[in-house]
Amino acid sequence: MSSKLPIEASRREPSNRLPVGSSLRGWLDHLQKTGRLALASPDVELRFGVAGIANRLDGTSASIFPQPSGHPVPVVSGLLSQRSWMAEATGVPQSELIGTFERACQNPLPWTEVSEAPCQQIVHRQVNLTEQLPIPVHNEYDHGAYITAGLLIARRPDTGVQNVSIHRLQVSGPDRLGALLLPRHTLSFFQEQERLGADLDIAIVIGVDPLTLMASQAIVPIDQDELEVSGALRGSPLPVVKCITNDIRVPAEAEFVLEGRLLAQVREPEGPFGEFPQYYGQRAERHVVQLDALTHRKSPIYHTIVGGGLEHLLLGGIPREASFLSHLRRSFPCLKDLHLSQGGTCRYHLFLQLDKPKAGEAKNLILAAFGAHYDIKHVIAVDTDVDVHDPGQVEWAVATRFQADRDLILVGGAQGSKLDPSSIDGLSAKMGLDATVPIEAPEMKFTRIRVPGQEELDLDRLVTPAPQDWIRRTTEPEEGPR
Ligand code: MN
Repeated sequence: MSSKLPIEASRREPSNRLPVGSSLRGWLDHLQKTGRLALASPDVELRFGVAGIANRLDGTSASIFPQPSGHPVPVVSGLLSQRSWMAEATGVPQSELIGTFERACQNPLPWTEVSEAPCQQIVHRQVNLTEQLPIPVHNEYDHGAYITAGLLIARRPDTGVQNVSIHRLQVSGPDRLGALLLPRHTLSFFQEQERLGADLDIAIVIGVDPLTLMASQAIVPIDQDELEVSGALRGSPLPVVKCITNDIRVPAEAEFVLEGRLLAQVREPEGPFGEFPQYYGQRAERHVVQLDALTHRKSPIYHTIVGGGLEHLLLGGIPREASFLSHLRRSFPCLKDLHLSQGGTCRYHLFLQLDKPKAGEAKNLILAAFGAHYDIKHVIAVDTDVDVHDPGQVEWAVATRFQADRDLILVGGAQGSKLDPSSIDGLSAKMGLDATVPIEAPEMKFTRIRVPGQEELDLDRLVTPAPQDWIRRTTEPEEGPR
């Protein structure tokens, strides 16, 4: 299958050099060399200390914490807290990130299995989470320590196809985790097993390379292993290794692997936990993971994602943008670009950019967008003279091209995000704003003002900072006409 996206130029040339984001330690080295890795003083506290510093540096630099609360394993956070960093990790310009990601989803590359792997250098048959891992407490009312950057890998027992997803994991005991499984692929694998009365084998992988981290968030069909998207992004098959206590294949270069089972017929209290919308997900009876083994590298590094931070928002946002763009373009070729805004938690607010839509087409596209994912709550459609990646410009289009009695779409009682506190347990209204120029409008009416040639001006040549004697120089020039 080949992609329909027109961004052919971004097709990476075959090369022996992997993108810098294909290795966690390589990426951290790259951040260090470019002044984007902050080293915390030793002994920052795991409770609030790590998250506080990571939040303060969010979007500016990643941070590494040696001996947090005296624990021998360092914690790292903020690996991918800007769109441009994700593009850099992937080895493409930012304008090609979405297209590259979507092509990787459509052209997955199967992994390659190895028998010896760094992630299994050390093996613990007895798991004691808080002793073995430096697991931080992030937000004020979090129930306690949470594993937040753990890739949960499950495998369908009948087909052997794997699924990868990130779930918040509450430390409930030395070898026990509470998990939030939203209604997607992992849950469906589990429900099939639970109906048979069996547990579902899983692995939880902590400390993976940035490309695998991004790939874990790909919105691909249930029979597609997200690790193959990682392979496609790196342009080379991802090395994996079989777990020691089950058949799950995990990235060989990972820092930590927890092996275990999602328990059938068991639910225990989990939460509250500070989530991406900047609110707490509530405490409720949820799924439980029993751990059987822990393996890790020698001198490992532990990765944590602070709930509600940019890394959390963008990791969910970028892969979604890629899949929405390709999905909606199949029916609407006029769709040029789209954006999940940061203010909309990179989930709830979708901006669509349309190139000369036909009469009424913007409204059809808005309705289709509601169906692309239940998280999408408010959709704004604009024309190509508006930059969809700039919320200020989108607001300008709403201010000057939108009339609520004519251009508003409202649907009540639809499926929304359970993490949106204004919803009623996930029951939510959908609102669409058509801020495109009406088709019948006279051309001059909506023509944006513009100074011809403005963008091409060479300011370095044309202006300098004004000197102290600016008034004499400008009002009494020594030479020239008087
Ligand atoms: Mn999946």
